[in-house]
Amino acid sequence: MKVCIIGTGYVGLVTGLGLADLGHGVTCVDLDEERVARVNAGDPPFYEPGLPDLLRTHAGGRLRATTSVTDGISNADLTIIAVGTPFDGSQIALEQVSEASRQIGAALADIDRYHVVVVKSTVVPGTTDTVVLPILEESSQKVAGTDFGVGMNPEFLREGNAVEDFMQPDRIVLGAIDQRSQDVMAELYASVEGAEIVRTTTRTAEMIKYTANSLLATLISFSNEIANLSSKVGVDAIEVMRGVHLDKRLTPMRENGSRIWPGIISYLIPGCGFGGSCFPKDVKSLIAFAEQNQAPMPLLKAVIDINESQPAQMLQMLSRHVIDLDGVPVTVLGMAFKPGTDDIRESPALVVTDELLDRGADVTVFDPVAQRPVYEIYGDRLKYAETLEDAVRDAEAILLMTAWHEFTRLPGLLGPRQHQPVVVDGRRQLEHDTITTYEGIGR
Ligand code: NAD
Repeated sequence: MKVCIIGTGYVGLVTGLGLADLGHGVTCVDLDEERVARVNAGDPPFYEPGLPDLLRTHAGGRLRATTSVTDGISNADLTIIAVGTPFDGSQIALEQVSEASRQIGAALADIDRYHVVVVKSTVVPGTTDTVVLPILEESSQKVAGTDFGVGMNPEFLREGNAVEDFMQPDRIVLGAIDQRSQDVMAELYASVEGAEIVRTTTRTAEMIKYTANSLLATLISFSNEIANLSSKVGVDAIEVMRGVHLDKRLTPMRENGSRIWPGIISYLIPGCGFGGSCFPKDVKSLIAFAEQNQAPMPLLKAVIDINESQPAQMLQMLSRHVIDLDGVPVTVLGMAFKPGTDDIRESPALVVTDELLDRGADVTVFDPVAQRPVYEIYGDRLKYAETLEDAVRDAEAILLMTAWHEFTRLPGLLGPRQHQPVVVDGRRQLEHDTITTYEGIGR
């Protein structure tokens, strides 16, 4: 098939390259000229494992990028909307989705063939039917269901694992206004093996995405709430969770007595909070949407409240050892919201870094891939270490904020030092007895 994707960010580019790998011809559209030029040159615009190889294989071949929606749609059978849907402080901001829909509609006005428009951006239930569809009809002067199809295909990829998630999805949710739109969408994924296909309405597809993210966010805040009590009463939350995980409903037993450890278990390990471009804004958008629909969500509000207070736990643990941070060399290890990505959007590390700077600390940061976006925010207010060794050399305190595997080398690096820093482990990544002065979330 010929596919156009509006928005060449994490979702748009990974989806575009994944579809190109499946054999489709893809045109990625973005407003950002530099991003378009980089994609065409085969130069990844952001860090994501597996992306450079795919881009090298397909850029200039099955995949190209352009800044023009009209150009992108001219030969396409299907257009995917993958633009941002931020939370604007009171509700989901749909400006990017509306503008993309207007541009697609205007381009559709000049196309005689049947075309399907698919929303992949995360949008609150009803958006595809009541926002996107009317804009498409108005700007194209055509009729949905007759002249063009409309669908909603939420994305579940995880940054850091995005390429694999695209190639081996758990499920493919196809919401559509009619059978014809749905069949065209199904064709797109026909050669993906092993994924369950969920055919449903656009609203249900939209709700599945929010519910999935809200469940995961709830598990994280649940673990963190348990951890915060555990550390107050002399109990280690990791030990508690190990005991909880042994419930066979969480970790079923194979016939040979070994356990299956489903990925969901990682959401039941305490930490310094969730961040990223999805969980915080999606849960807040859903809460606001629920309020507009007279169905308040006190549970999800608590999930957000717990999460927002979680980075402060790091500073509280630090203050047990260093009361006055003025002029104290403190190193923040990990700025990305999780390992495997350079995405720092809503990262708890930013909250902690701001607070350290406010208290006058002399802050050094080290992240294996996210230094550049951090520099764009903080400039010369921080020191940027090139290596883990440099990062920790003079530190009196080290705050571990992202579970990059590289940070497990920390005990070995600190071992020979005469003056040991306090290490505050926000991801429970280190064994406490390998560090002289150790504090960990939930300990
Ligand atoms: P992003 O911010 O990385 O990318 C969005 C891109 O869209 C930007 O490059 C922007 O320049 C471009 N854009 C905006 N309006 C445009 C227009 N009119 N024409 C052309 N380009 C336009 O966003 P993202 O992280 O890829 O997320 C996109 C959507 O997918 C969001 O709704 C998000 O919630 C959802 N989602 C994201 C993830 C994730 O892990 N990042 C996972 C699942 C779902």
